Amino acid sequence: VKLLVSLGTCGIAAGTQPVLKAIRDEITERRLENAIEVSEVGCMGLCFAEPVIMLVDRDSGKRLIYGDVTPQQVPAILSAGTGAPATGTRTLERTWYYPETESASPDELQARIVLRNTGRINPEKIEEYIAEGGYSALATALTKMKPQEVIETVIASGLRGRGGGGFPTGRKWQFAANQPEGEKFIICNADEGDPGAFMDRAVLEGDPHSVLEAMAIGGYAIGASTGVIYIRAEYPLAVKRLEIAIAQAKELGLLGGNIFGSGFDFGIEIKFGAGAFVCGEETALIHSIEGMRGEPTVKPPFPAVQGLWKRPSVVNNVETYANVCAIIRRGADWFRAIGTEGSPGTKVFALAGKVTNVGLVEVPMGSTLRQIIFGIGGGIKHGRAFKAVQTGGPSGGCITPKHLDLPIDYEALKGIGSMMGSGGMIVMDEDDCMVNIAKFFLEFTLDESCGKCTPCRIGNRRLYEMLEEITDGRGTMDTLEKLRTLSATIKDTALCGLGQTSPNPVLSTMNNFEEEYLAHVKEAR
Ligand code: SF4
Repeated sequence: VKLLVSLGTCGIAAGTQPVLKAIRDEITERRLENAIEVSEVGCMGLCFAEPVIMLVDRDSGKRLIYGDVTPQQVPAILSAGTGAPATGTRTLERTWYYPETESASPDELQARIVLRNTGRINPEKIEEYIAEGGYSALATALTKMKPQEVIETVIASGLRGRGGGGFPTGRKWQFAANQPEGEKFIICNADEGDPGAFMDRAVLEGDPHSVLEAMAIGGYAIGASTGVIYIRAEYPLAVKRLEIAIAQAKELGLLGGNIFGSGFDFGIEIKFGAGAFVCGEETALIHSIEGMRGEPTVKPPFPAVQGLWKRPSVVNNVETYANVCAIIRRGADWFRAIGTEGSPGTKVFALAGKVTNVGLVEVPMGSTLRQIIFGIGGGIKHGRAFKAVQTGGPSGGCITPKHLDLPIDYEALKGIGSMMGSGGMIVMDEDDCMVNIAKFFLEFTLDESCGKCTPCRIGNRRLYEMLEEITDGRGTMDTLEKLRTLSATIKDTALCGLGQTSPNPVLSTMNNFEEEYLAHVKEAR
């Protein structure tokens, strides 16, 4: 039997380490070392039930997942094996978990491409990654494909940037490859900063090699020999696992000089961010790596032409890279067949807020919010009524019950006044005041504005003050009018995406929940 213990940050915070100790003690005491192999894995996506462990019978493939495990339950769980669940424990339904194989099947709500190894392999053991086909995509790219073929495969797959913008990844690579030869950079944006978002952290904690391998493939494609991972310093476990992964890959010659005897050299450095949300914007991120203030600059020039140290640079986020190896191994057509025409593949969402099963989900693009929130998420906590869901973090918008059955992808979300963003999904119930929600998100952007341009620095402050007037009962119909006008001005005139999207939560709540604004306003009462 293989026993997987969830040791992502969520599991550790919920108490997985005492459970792991109890498991190891029990195995030693009962001399079960040959019968049970313990594997310390990353987040299994079942954050609502941490500490989580999973027993897998290697012969039959039968799996049993236990949630809310305590050290006291361990002896009974080990005695029960993969047979009937131990009494007094909580077992979890298989439907909440990702499918076994790297694929997307119409029979399953969840898919598994980005999270193919997360929660399944020990991220600190490169041999487990290699056993799952790890580094075979890099071998294929370096020994059987020309750089241009790699780019064409990524273009043909239709992969779009998962950090929020949705720009076609292959085209970005092509721009950088088209620049004259010389020093170029492959950058990984691991500065995940949306409130409620933890997808990238889970991938880096659970499967760091998938990102390293993809960065090396990207480096080969565009002609870069240096990769830089820009990661927030608040992710110490992800940093530790990345450092271990880089050292292991170097030791095996999978990073460094002359990889697979191809003559291609590639190394990866880690740079730490100090937790500024604006550094998720690629030009601000590049300035931060260069040791300057993390402030955006006007584009063009785009980083693919003039990026880090004024050299051509590709910036993609963690989830985008995590798709690349699967595309190289299984082909562009395979990837294109998953998801929607305009947005192939899957999307990982961090499901949070008032939903029963808070956690990490991966679904094919085109899944509906109902499938995610009510199917995988188990509906609203404590039987309350669903009111809205915020996608796209502070830059996104609130989506109401009337859009629960809309198949979601980049365009569909934009069409209803929200956005995909990086994948945070915060669910709200009937008790939430939508004016307060708008105020919460605006307060976040206000704190995170770099202050470089006036519409964002001053405009958002005024917007926030108006929202305060409204929630304090001092607002008038004139305040509501001004809220709309100023929101539109900020959207039109702010320098970067942070400012341009900051009024979205205000506008979408005003459009969808006008009655709640009116309920706060004197003249309307
Ligand atoms: Fe800075 Fe905001 Fe202007 Fe962006 S929009 S440059 S975050 S002040």
